[in-house]
Amino acid sequence: MSTKNIAPETQMLGYGYKPELSEGSVKCPIFQTSTFVFKSAEEGKAFFEMAHGKPGHEGKEMGLIYSRINNPDMEILEERLKLWDGGDAAAVFSSGMSAIATSLLTYLRPGDLLLYSNPIYGGTHKFIHHVLTSFGIEILGFRAGQEKEEIEKILTESGLQDKLKMIYVETPANPTNDLIDIEMCAAIARDYSTPGKQVMVAVDNTYMGPLWQHPLNHGADIVLYSATKYIGGHSDVIAGAAVGNKLVIKAIKKMRTVLGTMTDPNTCWLLMRSLETLKIRMEQAARNAEQVASFLLHHPKVEKVYYLGYTADQNPFQLGIFQKQYLSNGAMLSFDVIGGEKESFIFLNNLKHIKLAVSLGGTESLAEHPATMTHADVPFEEKESYKITGKMVRLSIGIENATDIINDIEQALEKVPLKKKPNILLDQVV
Ligand SMILES: *Cc1c(COP(=O)(O)O)cnc(C)c1O
Repeated sequence: MSTKNIAPETQMLGYGYKPELSEGSVKCPIFQTSTFVFKSAEEGKAFFEMAHGKPGHEGKEMGLIYSRINNPDMEILEERLKLWDGGDAAAVFSSGMSAIATSLLTYLRPGDLLLYSNPIYGGTHKFIHHVLTSFGIEILGFRAGQEKEEIEKILTESGLQDKLKMIYVETPANPTNDLIDIEMCAAIARDYSTPGKQVMVAVDNTYMGPLWQHPLNHGADIVLYSATKYIGGHSDVIAGAAVGNKLVIKAIKKMRTVLGTMTDPNTCWLLMRSLETLKIRMEQAARNAEQVASFLLHHPKVEKVYYLGYTADQNPFQLGIFQKQYLSNGAMLSFDVIGGEKESFIFLNNLKHIKLAVSLGGTESLAEHPATMTHADVPFEEKESYKITGKMVRLSIGIENATDIINDIEQALEKVPLKKKPNILLDQVV
């Protein structure tokens, strides 16, 4: 049966798994084993030759060797995961950070330049600024909202444009929901690629993926995930993933085998289970988010709501990106309480149902304070310039009854003292 015309949500129930290889078990068992028995020494030799890419085994499927290299749970999970993004291969990792670190270390070498978008996930910011630079990799940031000409000007002014090796973007940007045009990044990558050096485009699709944004269709080479978030979806695993074409994923897997950043069989099994309900979970969360956003929009104690559904009104210049790149308004939103850190904290401390925790994309709604939590390590001036200020609260909307979520937000906002909308001139003086 061709897999092309079957929807991913249908494929999640069985794709890539053969019951006859597992005593007829309807579900893929957990292959909780570190190593696999070879039928003969010759077979073991052949598998190792294939693992090391030696010629003579073209078209043959590699067998199971050792769970750092391969494992049935990991392989079947990867087969399913690639379907959402329309990639032809995927690799899963022990965390989103290990997916990001392993993929970047596969392609970047001392002297190469990494161009990356801002704002960006705190862990990635740290990896780029403190780890990659310590290996002699050059880094250069641009901001969500900047146009192609502005970004190319930054590149030219740096004098490092010929060293450009990778463009790394996170869109929508966390926590402000600013958008970046992936096609524009792919066009920049083409402009700076040479016959001997392909400039790669990597997109962290954690916020919207794998349902609502498909970066490969817009020219990205690598799609990265914290599978801890929507893919896992129950706030009970840490995992990551990379999706792309066969050659790209093969290179990344080679690095993964050496670094040992793969996922264990039990986590792979949990993620397969999560994938079966991915679509209905994400769609319910998005429906709830729409109601929460509209409640917040008109609330007298709320200054601004950062939600993709309001792109047309708040960010008309980003509407074009939204329309071509996104299939939903998503279920992540932030808002500014009128006031500052004090008022945000009163709100957070008075939530009863919504948990005060970082992370996102789980079945339960979570609230956090980006400026002092997820983005604590980003320098203050940088944070202010991205509008990540004391008054901002980030919400990850879950799959609960929307009225229960809204009632909780309403009662917590009641505890926040009512202040007048800030006077912009006064704000600048303080
Ligand atoms: C959480 C997150 C990561 C890191 O993933 P872990 O699974 O925590 O390692 C990377 N990028 C984004 C956008 C995230 O939200």
